Amino acid sequence: MHQSTATQNEVDAAKKALPPVDLRSDTVTKPTPAMRRAMAEAEVGDDVYGEDPAVNRLQARAAEIFGREAALFVPTGTMGNLVAIKTWTQPGHEVICETGAHINQYEFSSMSFVAGCMPRAIPAADGILTWDLIEPMLQIKHPHKADTGLVELENTHNVAGGSVYPTEVLEAICDHAHDHGLRVHLDGARIFNAATYLKKSVADITRKVDSIMFCLSKGLGAPVGSMLVGSQEFIQKAHRYRKTFGGGMRQVGVLAAAGLIALEESPKGLAGDHQNARHLAEALGRMPGISLDAAKVVTNIVRFDVSGTGHTAAEICGELKKRGILAGPFAKHAIRMVTHYDVNRAGIERALEAMREVTRK
Ligand SMILES: *Cc1c(COP(=O)(O)O)cnc(C)c1O
Repeated sequence: MHQSTATQNEVDAAKKALPPVDLRSDTVTKPTPAMRRAMAEAEVGDDVYGEDPAVNRLQARAAEIFGREAALFVPTGTMGNLVAIKTWTQPGHEVICETGAHINQYEFSSMSFVAGCMPRAIPAADGILTWDLIEPMLQIKHPHKADTGLVELENTHNVAGGSVYPTEVLEAICDHAHDHGLRVHLDGARIFNAATYLKKSVADITRKVDSIMFCLSKGLGAPVGSMLVGSQEFIQKAHRYRKTFGGGMRQVGVLAAAGLIALEESPKGLAGDHQNARHLAEALGRMPGISLDAAKVVTNIVRFDVSGTGHTAAEICGELKKRGILAGPFAKHAIRMVTHYDVNRAGIERALEAMREVTRK
């Protein structure tokens, strides 16, 4: 593309000298030295018998942090969401969600394939649903239509660029849903990012939802694992479905030990990730051909449009890769960059320098 400022040899040399800056996702974070030590030293048992002390500690601590009765360790966020959907619904139900929701776009139709439910997807600005958008889509005891079985919300919203629910909007949805006898499940894969932005506790911003899934394996940096949080009754049922779906694990305390450190230590680093994302967004926004609204970058996800550069997202990501910068093409002309603790400010500057180079006309 634009080889005038750096010869291929120079590019190759730079690539060798420095490790890549990986902005594809916050899932790429590697366990910290403290996590690795905790994993090596974890006290373990058979978790299918409920005898793994590290798992039990992690579950108790997650429940406590969210101010709930119980929690359950699950291998992935995808399984956590599926278990929650299965627990709250019956086959033939519809699940209300936002069109860009992870459960609608990135979970291989599992709610239909496995739980027998159909998504009733509603598009919303910045991925943020309101009760006014949801209400007309409700179907309860309709003579010709499937019953709504669950409302699902995503906070932060991944596809919308890490947008955050105003707590009063989320709570109003819960209040109205409950008035209709409906449950609300929260895909809180990045709920700690939302709480960091809102400067509130995760318990405060999730008070009214009926169940929460959050990921230990994203910005919190654990190698594997997500949690479901809710009432004792919900978690008891969820526990049975986790086993049904093949998610009963044995000496999984080696993972839970890392998860516990992620839960205790990592949230305090998220504000720095958000500052890096904002810095990245503001500088990208000033580059010709790139369009994004930096003011909307409030957590760790930066999504931008590259149509004006005359190149596709895949072309730009390909050129960035040659310069040691990894980013994800999200659509034909959209790129996503996600900040996390394995990328510092110097890494952000490298990414910006590479972007200037590959988008220069
Ligand atoms: C990553 C993610 C999940 C699923 O997590 P996995 O552990 O990758 O299965 C669910 N919801 C959202 C919003 C996510 O970003």
